[in-house]
Amino acid sequence: MTYPTQPKASHFINGAYVEDTAGTPIDVIYPATGKKIAQVHAATPAVIDHALSSARNAQAAWAALTGTERGRILRRAADIMRERNHDLSVLETFDTGKPYQETSEVDATSGADALEYFGGMAATLTGEHIQLGEDWVYTRREALGVCVGIGAWNYPTQIACWKGAPALTCGNTMVFKPSETTPLCALKVAEILHEAGVPAGVYNVVQGMGEVGAALITDDRVDKVSLTGSVPTGRKVYAAAAAGIKHVTMELGGKSPLIIFDDADVENAVSGAILGNFYSSGQVCSNGTRVFVHKNIKEAFLARLSERLAGAVIGDPQDPETSFGPMVSERQLGIVEGYIAKGQVEGARLVYGGNRIKDDGFYIEPTVFADVTDDMSIAREEIFGPVMAVLDFEDEADVMTRANATDFGLAAGVFTRDLTRAHRVAAGFEAGTCFINSYNDAPVEAPFGGSKLSGVGRENSKAAIAHYSQLKSVYVRMGDLEAPF
Ligand code: NAD
Repeated sequence: MTYPTQPKASHFINGAYVEDTAGTPIDVIYPATGKKIAQVHAATPAVIDHALSSARNAQAAWAALTGTERGRILRRAADIMRERNHDLSVLETFDTGKPYQETSEVDATSGADALEYFGGMAATLTGEHIQLGEDWVYTRREALGVCVGIGAWNYPTQIACWKGAPALTCGNTMVFKPSETTPLCALKVAEILHEAGVPAGVYNVVQGMGEVGAALITDDRVDKVSLTGSVPTGRKVYAAAAAGIKHVTMELGGKSPLIIFDDADVENAVSGAILGNFYSSGQVCSNGTRVFVHKNIKEAFLARLSERLAGAVIGDPQDPETSFGPMVSERQLGIVEGYIAKGQVEGARLVYGGNRIKDDGFYIEPTVFADVTDDMSIAREEIFGPVMAVLDFEDEADVMTRANATDFGLAAGVFTRDLTRAHRVAAGFEAGTCFINSYNDAPVEAPFGGSKLSGVGRENSKAAIAHYSQLKSVYVRMGDLEAPF
């Protein structure tokens, strides 16, 4: 049976699928074959207006529900997502090309985690009471209003939920624009939220390229923008939001360091480097792509890494045995091939991979460069593909300076058996999300986000609440009020 990849319509607005074929057609390409599997249309100005007015109109009634009521609906949506994990994972694999082995473990499930976590928190959100002699102040934690979410293509279900769950928990409504490269999954998130009882207009999805995102951000009906994307897009979105003094969350790119000391467990360190470079074919923002390996263990590390990479099962991503899939698009494949060529030209030693491996689909081998120096392009620029740069070091202070010598600050990791060094290094990293003897864990309970150019604000955890709500202070005078005249 062919899996139904064509959605009922392009957009989901005010509780229903909406189509407007006047919008620019967007072909959805299955990365494993390069073949078209669906088509949607970019939102026209009329569709954008419909989505924003629906979100605006629905907001007050949604915010007026108790937290318990909002939370119950979100938790019900989490249950539905888990029940449909198989179908959602198959669709995620069609949308992104990521192996089913991954999508069935981390995509709809992490989306459900966010809905469950924030749904559970909804009833606990409170203001505070501040006594001032006999007078007092109380604070109310209030919704921001209408939030726009804009997604990248690597985790379409997760991003739709990581933004939607805290936004809705706080009483906001949302218009979500998925990446034009992966437009399918967010529609399912919207469907499930409505099936669970989210009122019409509270969570809407519109399709389109950057122009649609730009039109959403600049609209006066919008109070907050949350973007997951690259730094160049972040600069534009942040600037557009600033013009309207809108709240922002920016989850942007990275070039994160992973430092492996010579006392590390090499097997675990290799696992960390694999998880931090080749999961999702390297298309993960927090990847530790600058792998600093102590000179004493460098060759042992490289040898074991190559052995383990030979065990990657590259093939049809819908096959549960496949552990490494294609790049999301021909364009992304071209970018990766360009960086592999640059690495060779700039003098790095190619120790594994480097080649396209299939004629159809956007496949490229997991690739490792050694003897990489700090100034090489593959050590400085975000590639967003399966290309690991291994750099040598000997001294802790020196490697910390080099690890932090980047404008990015999303993530960082360290492998060592030395307890105090592990925490000293974590404290010294200029990055928002750090790992000790692990890499790329992103549980909903922990704040996730970047420093420096990698972003503003935090997703997940209690910290996200501060980015989707605002405090109102109410001063209450108990006695007479004096004035100067
Ligand atoms: P991108 O910046 O090209 O696009 C991201 C989204 O922004 C897309 O939906 C796009 O249509 C939209 N967009 C583009 N121009 C816009 C504009 N002017 N106004 C409004 N919206 C606009 O990113 P991508 O190629 O889809 O994703 C890869 C990037 O995302 C990488 O840099 C990666 O590191 C980053 N990323 C970050 C995180 C994180 O949580 N920090 C997670 C995943 C991906």
